[in-house]
Amino acid sequence: MKTTKFIWMDGKLVKWKNAKVHIMTHAIHYGSAVFEGIHAYETNKGTAIFRLDDHINRLFHSASALGMKLKFSKNQLKKSIKKLVKINNIGDGYIRPIAYYGYGNIGVYPKGIPANIAIITIPWGHYYSTNLRIKISEYRRHSERSSVYGAKISGNYANSILAMYEVRKKGYDEALMLDLDNYVSEGPAENIFMVKNKTLIAPKSRSALPGITRKSILEISKGIGIKAYEKKVRAKELKNADELFFCGTATEIAPVIAIDGKRVGNGKAGEITLKIRQKYRDVVRGKDKKYMKWLAYIG
Ligand code: PMP
Repeated sequence: MKTTKFIWMDGKLVKWKNAKVHIMTHAIHYGSAVFEGIHAYETNKGTAIFRLDDHINRLFHSASALGMKLKFSKNQLKKSIKKLVKINNIGDGYIRPIAYYGYGNIGVYPKGIPANIAIITIPWGHYYSTNLRIKISEYRRHSERSSVYGAKISGNYANSILAMYEVRKKGYDEALMLDLDNYVSEGPAENIFMVKNKTLIAPKSRSALPGITRKSILEISKGIGIKAYEKKVRAKELKNADELFFCGTATEIAPVIAIDGKRVGNGKAGEITLKIRQKYRDVVRGKDKKYMKWLAYIG
């Protein structure tokens, strides 16, 4: 892992090697943390952070789901993120704010335990996604009946890890999970899209994280003449798609070229997928005026 000079912890800049927590940190035991993954891009007007407001809003939604009271306001966190990206000079990179129940007691219920918060930034260079061979996991994505819709809670990722171990053992690149009602949900850390008859379809499930990349793609594809809509999708329908791709802040847009050993379309990255990927790359790098509103320049 590439490191940086500083990590921000509860308002202080701490050297990378000193950014530690106690083993009695509640979040280590119970996954009682919430986090975000945010992407910073080099543009010709300097480094910009993609959809920072949306990510911070989701972080606060996640924190409230776990009953966390954060010691910093949304504005304070946004300023601290920009400052850290600048100080660490990451250029293209990843930003990971994480709020976690800290040192307190050993019980599951975190009442009275302080909620700490940290920001990590990681330089990435140019990150280009590869084509993926995926498998539908035996594990189901946790539903609204077992977690909170739209909350990015660390503990939820045990489910992602189980699915990844299962499919990697069988030689696939990435997992896809269904929800408890047998509809397509999402990948371990990405949303999925399908293309059928030149139309873009975003599988809808209350057990999938409402991704910011997904929302952006639905908007930008309409702008380039691609019809797009959301609906509930069964696995069978997905397997008969002309094109499939995963999307997320880190992944960006990654073509899926096979599912459960069956080729998707002609087994190559699809035409519409590549068109959307190109548009997305232009948008995040500030090359499309219409979407400049999504970029927060670090100044
Ligand atoms: N689903 C899960 C489970 C994720 O972890 C992510 C990554 N945050 C996504 C979907 C994609 O969300 P976003 O586009 O907001 O990064």
